[in-house]
Amino acid sequence: MSATALARPAAGCEAAPVLRERGQREVFCGLTGIIWLHRKIQDAFFLIVGSRTCAHLMQSAAGVMIFAEPRFATAIIDERDLAGLADANEELDRVVGQLLARRPDIRLLFLVGSCPSEVIKLDLSRAARRLDRQHHGTRVLSYSGSGIETTFTQGEDACLAALVPEMPVAAARAPELLVVGALAEVVEDQLRRLFEALGISPVGFLPPRRADALPAVGPETRLLLAQPFLAETARALEARGARHLPAPFPLGAEGTTAWLRAAAEAWGVPAPRFRAVTAIGEQRARAAIDRHRDRLAGRRIFFFPDSQLEIPLARFLARELDMRPIEIGTPYLHRAHLAAELPLLPGDALLSEGQDVDRQLDRCRAARPDLVVCGLGLANPLEAEGYATKWSIELVFTPIQGYDQAGDLAALFARPLVRRDGLRV
Ligand code: SF4
Repeated sequence: MSATALARPAAGCEAAPVLRERGQREVFCGLTGIIWLHRKIQDAFFLIVGSRTCAHLMQSAAGVMIFAEPRFATAIIDERDLAGLADANEELDRVVGQLLARRPDIRLLFLVGSCPSEVIKLDLSRAARRLDRQHHGTRVLSYSGSGIETTFTQGEDACLAALVPEMPVAAARAPELLVVGALAEVVEDQLRRLFEALGISPVGFLPPRRADALPAVGPETRLLLAQPFLAETARALEARGARHLPAPFPLGAEGTTAWLRAAAEAWGVPAPRFRAVTAIGEQRARAAIDRHRDRLAGRRIFFFPDSQLEIPLARFLARELDMRPIEIGTPYLHRAHLAAELPLLPGDALLSEGQDVDRQLDRCRAARPDLVVCGLGLANPLEAEGYATKWSIELVFTPIQGYDQAGDLAALFARPLVRRDGLRV
């Protein structure tokens, strides 16, 4: 069963119609987020409560893409649990007890739900409360990484949303900036230096590098999203009084400047100071991006919905590299968080939300793009059909935000075309 509908957005650029589709989808589940989150929160441990399939997914994804550290594991739900022959809560308590006895360095333990734990209706939030009472010195929280009706970046959103109730109450009466979204440490350090130079302080980052360094939140918190897929986290922070600063996302020279400007305006930073602080970084970013222009300008690109980064990426590639997005697919279109992005998209690109994969493949084949951005499940078949592809998940694993990463971001899109052009020789 599938359904397709053309809907016109309420206002703005947005002026272009959005193709909304519901049908078969090709996406990874939210467990994938553990791969970058466990590297970021260095004293946290992620215990997936799932099946052997979940364990295999994590092992192969982590083993292939990063140098894995033992800060995640899977408590396997086996046939006895599924058949209701064993008490899954008792088994979980035993596994957690063994883990924390062996690893007293764990300060924060996430129980991560999966499709199987949801199927057997294992209440992990209750289990987390129980285990938290039992194990002093380790905070135990839970969230769902299940692949049922989700896309892979929602794992990070669910994890960060689970942290929000743990954040202390902000005591300050002056504004505090909170940057939300997991960023590579090198990126976080660069951005922190820029905020300092602009005179913007204090600045907190969510997630923090250590579980006991959660930033505070309150009515004076100004929320700057570093990732476009954090709807639930933003909602939880707003419920605690934080106010969202609308901005494009910090991808590319233009995006990074606009993102920083949103904070600068909220802090009343004078325009000359803003230019003085950002000009060199922006220039350097533009020069690094320009090195890939010959390869990318005029090339047609097609985005399948996967990472939720598709809209800011298409904006960057169209405006700073003159690429031509044909279709920009996104799993969800969060209008409030993307309000500063949508007017910057080229008017002739088709914006689509949700997926009916067969129809979308038909559109892709009919358009014959030069480059396809998609999940792993579609990339290999499309490569076999002669298309150059870029794995969207790579864009979440790689540091791409900020001025100093702008050239690397352009290179990520140039590389498959270099390879494909090389194969044609
Ligand atoms: S959570 Fe669901 S989709 Fe993800 S690996 Fe486990 S069974 Fe598969």
